[in-house]
Amino acid sequence: MTDTAILTVKGLSKSFGGVKAVNDLTFSVQKNHIHAIIGPNGAGKSTLFNLITGIISPDDGEVRFFNNNITSLRSDRIAQHGVSRTFQNIRLFPDMTVFETVLIGTYLLTGAKLVPAILLTKSFREKEKTARKSVEEILKFVGLWDVRDEYAAQLSYGNQRRVEIARALATKPQLLLLDEPTAGMNPKETKELMNLFTAVNEEGITILIIAHDMNLVNTLSDQITVINFGEKLVEGTADVIQKHPAVIEAYMGK
Ligand code: ADP
Ligand code: MG
Repeated sequence: MTDTAILTVKGLSKSFGGVKAVNDLTFSVQKNHIHAIIGPNGAGKSTLFNLITGIISPDDGEVRFFNNNITSLRSDRIAQHGVSRTFQNIRLFPDMTVFETVLIGTYLLTGAKLVPAILLTKSFREKEKTARKSVEEILKFVGLWDVRDEYAAQLSYGNQRRVEIARALATKPQLLLLDEPTAGMNPKETKELMNLFTAVNEEGITILIIAHDMNLVNTLSDQITVINFGEKLVEGTADVIQKHPAVIEAYMGK
């Protein structure tokens, strides 16, 4: 079976002032893989995610999702193509329950909006019903159904991360980008999230994950891309990466 690239990044560059945050970066993610991006702080990992998801536009280069050029499209358009993400710093609205937070995620998909009751049409109500059903399935899948009516921002850190993942899943992505999802988690929360990522992947969702935890990276990844100073340093499976002198020097600091 030949591999299919779900995401292709070609010659991608982005500078902030004099800093080349991402510098002529080229790599691709194969469909159904868990693909890790590793590298030291400031290597350009989050900037790469911001470029892929349309938060910022590149100075140069291209992002392709399957055969579609999605470079510089608006974030919501990119999400509609099937690319969804979580952020390095958890972003949750303080006044929303878990259920409401994830329901908002589905609106992007259905094109539904919050409208005054008097304007509610039959088709809107049907979309809303489908959306609620989908939220229920997602919350059960990620293990948040029991806390669906609690305020998302008041949950444990591990569960807040789950809410973010659930919200990302609500757009029915084919590719999920996770930016340091286990940073600050205790070993138990980390293990549970790793199990969740495996389960998400087994549902046919390709995962691109930024992580520092080498146990997580080595356990989960089909492929690893190491970046430093915005450039690709080396790429390969965990076996190859661990032995690479440039990685040991630049990343492990040894
Ligand atoms: P990483 O996620 O690998 O730690 P980042 O992508 O956050 O790295 O940052 C890469 C470089 O780009 C850093 O030098 C950072 O300070 C800089 N940078 C990132 N975003 C911005 C921004 N919006 N404005 C200015 N500089 C930025
Ligand atoms: Mg980062």
